[in-house]
Amino acid sequence: MPPFTSDALVLRSFKLGETSKVVVLLTRDHGKLRAVARGARGPRSRYQSSLETLSEVRVGLYGRQGADLLRVGECELLHSAFPMAGRSPDAAAALSYFAELLDAFAPEGQAEDAVYRLAAAVTRAGEEGGDCTPLARYLEAWLLRLHGLYPSLDDCARCGSRLPAGRLVYHSLAHGFVCDGCSPASGPILAEPVRLALRRLFREAPVAFAADPPAAATLQPLEPFHRALIERHLERELRSSRVFRELSREVHG
Ligand SMILES: [Zn+2]
Repeated sequence: MPPFTSDALVLRSFKLGETSKVVVLLTRDHGKLRAVARGARGPRSRYQSSLETLSEVRVGLYGRQGADLLRVGECELLHSAFPMAGRSPDAAAALSYFAELLDAFAPEGQAEDAVYRLAAAVTRAGEEGGDCTPLARYLEAWLLRLHGLYPSLDDCARCGSRLPAGRLVYHSLAHGFVCDGCSPASGPILAEPVRLALRRLFREAPVAFAADPPAAATLQPLEPFHRALIERHLERELRSSRVFRELSREVHG
């Protein structure tokens, strides 16, 4: 592919040889790509801290036609995730979790503009001091929804009729919430305040949602619920999800 420049979020990086790194980038224009950043390690690195997890960069990428691995050229730091990573172990674990989640959902080499905008907005809300736990629920819900995996809050997954007001009853075989006529269902049951919190989540920008988040007890049931939807889709557990969960518990009791 000819050289190109794209905005990108750094999903992760690993060492290559003595001085280089391989970076996995979520690019705005070409989706998820891997590239070698030569000389990215060491005190005189030309990239300094711009290749930290979930930093946003404007990057020049070079590579031969059909090459699996591109080469990073010039790299301008647009937004550093470094201040958020340094804020607390909780925030650092959240960043790792966000990056792993995005990496797991992003197909290779296929641009998803809405996912890119979501990822950048959630990361920035975190940088601005937003509480990481509501932001995690926000990112999970929207990633699932953008991939067509979040159940409808309005229509019964079995018969298609309008769901009654109040709580949401999940039916795992139907992959969604069901009406009274289509019960009994496997659960879980999400109480009305949780449903209202979801309505807000799908209506508001992440920075607004995290600035005035629903009560922790209201959001709590969404953690195992989202985890089950994600693991069902990915058919595996995310490692950093467990770390972030354990650290959040220590912080929030
Ligand atoms: Zn029904």
